[in-house]
Amino acid sequence: MGILDVKDVNKRFGGLKALSDVNLSVSENTVHAIIGPNGAGKSTLLNCLVGKLIPDTGSVMFDGQSVLGRKPYEINQMGISRVFQTPEIFGDLTVMENMMIPLFAKRDGVFRLHAIESVSSERGLREQAERMLDDVNMLDKRNMHSASMSRGDKRRLEMAMCLVQEPRLLLLDEPTAGMARADTNNTIDLLKEIKTKRDITMCIIEHDMHVVFSLADRITVLAQGTPLVEDVPENIKGHPKVQEAYLGE
Ligand code: ADP
Ligand code: MG
Repeated sequence: MGILDVKDVNKRFGGLKALSDVNLSVSENTVHAIIGPNGAGKSTLLNCLVGKLIPDTGSVMFDGQSVLGRKPYEINQMGISRVFQTPEIFGDLTVMENMMIPLFAKRDGVFRLHAIESVSSERGLREQAERMLDDVNMLDKRNMHSASMSRGDKRRLEMAMCLVQEPRLLLLDEPTAGMARADTNNTIDLLKEIKTKRDITMCIIEHDMHVVFSLADRITVLAQGTPLVEDVPENIKGHPKVQEAYLGE
């Protein structure tokens, strides 16, 4: 049994079967990549893990508890955090102010935007945020306005915002999409660092094979809503079924 167990999940959008009998088990403290052509159902699967979508049938268990029927913030409090395809940070706020949001959300269980006003009184949380920023080498940028940062730094901040909640499972949906090579490499290094420094499991959806093969311990290939193959990276490279799935891309 893994820290995350998906069993027989099906999800339709009208006449379209986005997920068909998906089974997936992610072992604790590993990086598990989900790859597959556009429209394979990768984001749909991720949305089912975080409560944004509810599967038509099947089960999703995290650490022995079902996530189905729980609200996204409840799933977040269970220890699952998600990094979005485009960074979801507040451009008008400083780096530090952004960092306080997930800390308040975790403490209070709701997204309290007005919490920003009481940041100065929250010393413990502030120190926690600073330690995290130091960990991702962004402490010197703590008073910067987030909108003015590079895409790579925005991604780094978003990652820090997830990690400061101390999730046990981090879900990443194409974390390097649209990035220049240098920012992609920075993100790979950051994720490698996170992997070695922390007890954390990561499930990463990624198009860029360089990123996948740099990070993944195991890879699941999804095509037309169904897992085709699951194996270690060495066996995925050049796998005939994988090449077949990507033809037509
Ligand atoms: P991927 O992330 O692998 O590119 P998605 O999970 O986004 O694929 O999409 C899988 C399929 O489901 C696609 O055919 C997509 O058009 C369809 N789909 C995704 N979300 C919705 C939705 N909310 N309503 C209708 N169809 C959707
Ligand atoms: Mg997607």
